[in-house]
Amino acid sequence: EVKVELLGRRTKRAVRRPFRRSSAASWKRRGELRVGMPKALNMWSTGPFWRTYLETVGVKMKNVVFSDDTSEEMWIEGGKYGSIDPCYPSKVAQAHIHDLLFHKHSPEKPLDFIFFPCLTHMTTKLVGVMDTTSCPIVAGTPEVMKSAFTKEIDFFADRGVTYVDFAVTFTEPNLLKRQMFEGWAQHLGMTEDESDFAVDQAWKALERFDTIMEDKGREVLEAVERDDAIALLMIGRPYHSDPGLNHSVMDEFQVLGYPVLSMRSIPKDPAWLERFYADGLASGTIAHVLDLNDIWPENYSANSAQKVWSARFAARHPNVAVLDLSSFKCGHDAPTYGLVDSIINASGTPYSALHDIDANKPTGSIKIRVKTYAHSLKLHRERLEDVSRQKAELGFRVEAKRVALLEMKAAQLAQRGAMEPGLAAQIAQARERMAAYEARRPPPEKPKLPEGAIGLDKLSLGKRATASAAAHASAAGGDAARHAAAPQNT
Ligand code: SF4
Repeated sequence: EVKVELLGRRTKRAVRRPFRRSSAASWKRRGELRVGMPKALNMWSTGPFWRTYLETVGVKMKNVVFSDDTSEEMWIEGGKYGSIDPCYPSKVAQAHIHDLLFHKHSPEKPLDFIFFPCLTHMTTKLVGVMDTTSCPIVAGTPEVMKSAFTKEIDFFADRGVTYVDFAVTFTEPNLLKRQMFEGWAQHLGMTEDESDFAVDQAWKALERFDTIMEDKGREVLEAVERDDAIALLMIGRPYHSDPGLNHSVMDEFQVLGYPVLSMRSIPKDPAWLERFYADGLASGTIAHVLDLNDIWPENYSANSAQKVWSARFAARHPNVAVLDLSSFKCGHDAPTYGLVDSIINASGTPYSALHDIDANKPTGSIKIRVKTYAHSLKLHRERLEDVSRQKAELGFRVEAKRVALLEMKAAQLAQRGAMEPGLAAQIAQARERMAAYEARRPPPEKPKLPEGAIGLDKLSLGKRATASAAAHASAAGGDAARHAAAPQNT
């Protein structure tokens, strides 16, 4: 218990008390409330947190409602409330609030609250960063929305919905608990203990979600490494996962057989990442696999820093290609363009940028871009396969030579009646490695047949017999001709 005394002195005292619960009536009331959230901006990266918090304090799962994915229809219908926003992702937030007010809210199923927090700071797994701020547009948009929907008519009051948009910082867990309690207590009537407990559960849900994403990402990366294939890494903002904001470009690549990774799904386990940073770590240019101060010291913005870090990861992973998405008039992406470009150019990583995305979907030009990039990816994949084949061939030959030399040594020792401990095991291990390399070697090339000739493997047994007889006849004919042409000694 912390007390501030008359002269400002703080005293702390350890107390033991039971968990404070709100009344049964309060729980019952929360069970009947409906809360809507716009699926916009950084709600894309924090969704599990809000849902878990609300469900833990008693809001029913079915009563936690998100707006739909962005679509052209949604934008045309809901993008009509005047507001001053620089970029499309922030402009489109009004269409999501409209969707909640006019589609998710109805007399039969009313929404009691629309929750759109001002996210000032985000979490990060990077180390040594200056700060982890959100883009100021992300942080301020909930307030802009409040103005846009109340400036002439108060649409919230009109529909009986309370708009909740208090500020939240994800970098200070204790402050976050206080913000959540102060922001929600007046509306939901829970105790501070209940709210704090719900925040703890919400953190767990967010961490669990990250683990699931990273596990899937690791699976994909290990599969492409094994198969000499390519995965496409989308470097962008969390809301670029919205099909309405990425114009479904990722779906196009998935249809072509390229798995698409988000930056969040790159495993952040230092032990797993170290093999890609071995040179930098050994020379001391890279302090930590999750540090990017050597290439970008001004890393105060959480999403921008993650974007640059991910570009460097892609540059160091041979099976990762980059798809760089950025929205029209994005002030926060602009400083990273040059940096990402230099990183990618230095490594020769396949790269395609779709900058300046906005509401218009230039389907034709996107299709051309996808086709062109898919062609470069195909060539890159062929190069990877070539390198892998050459490595397998070289490895096989080295191991074959090793086996031959070790066997020779074993034979010579045997002749002298001597033996070396461990020699048989060395031979067995070299043979195993040889077999592993052999499995990855390409099958021997078939000799090319002259034009018009048909390979025996293409013929059925009956035809083979006929062909074989014909071949003999032809050979005999040839011999006869040669014999006829030769000078006769009689
Ligand atoms: S990061 Fe860029 S696109 Fe996103 S809200 Fe900020 S300015 Fe807009």
